[in-house]
Amino acid sequence: MAITRAEHNAARIRAGEFIERAGIPVTDGELAGIETADLGLGELEQSGVQIVTLVDTDQIAAKVLVLFPNQTEPEHRHPRLGEYAGKEETIRCHWGELYLYLAGELAPSPKGSPPAHRRHTYTVWHEHILMPGDQVTLAPDTLHWFQAGPEGAVIWSFSTKAIDVQDVFTDPDVSRETIIVD
Ligand code: ZN
Repeated sequence: MAITRAEHNAARIRAGEFIERAGIPVTDGELAGIETADLGLGELEQSGVQIVTLVDTDQIAAKVLVLFPNQTEPEHRHPRLGEYAGKEETIRCHWGELYLYLAGELAPSPKGSPPAHRRHTYTVWHEHILMPGDQVTLAPDTLHWFQAGPEGAVIWSFSTKAIDVQDVFTDPDVSRETIIVD
């Protein structure tokens, strides 16, 4: 599955508007470099994430993630890769509301709800509701997924070295590569 260049550009511009609303200063270059990850599912409004990379070195990464209203980043983990234990990541809500799910006690009535046709690929349901200023640190190789509330969300991701293409998603239909067609 792929998204069109027009869809990709529209998503990038829209993500930029969320970042401005959230009051996070970024450069024009960073805005132009916003990555729109539809995860190969071709349903960006429902499943995907927009990523502004601010720092990405061999040691650490700092990114701003934009989620459109009710948009979901599907369940995945950051696996061990040889000597590297895998990415440890802190997710911090800056604007909007984020529903984050990890392994553990099932939320009795979760606020988040993944796209109905993919619900079977969501296996962890311990809920954290993150409002601005709230954060959660995920150990390497921890299954997680998250969804923005009805207004969308702008969140920080602070982590050890990011090797996003190696992320392991529960949904076999996900591919980390975004294919853009004209
Ligand atoms: Zn992750």
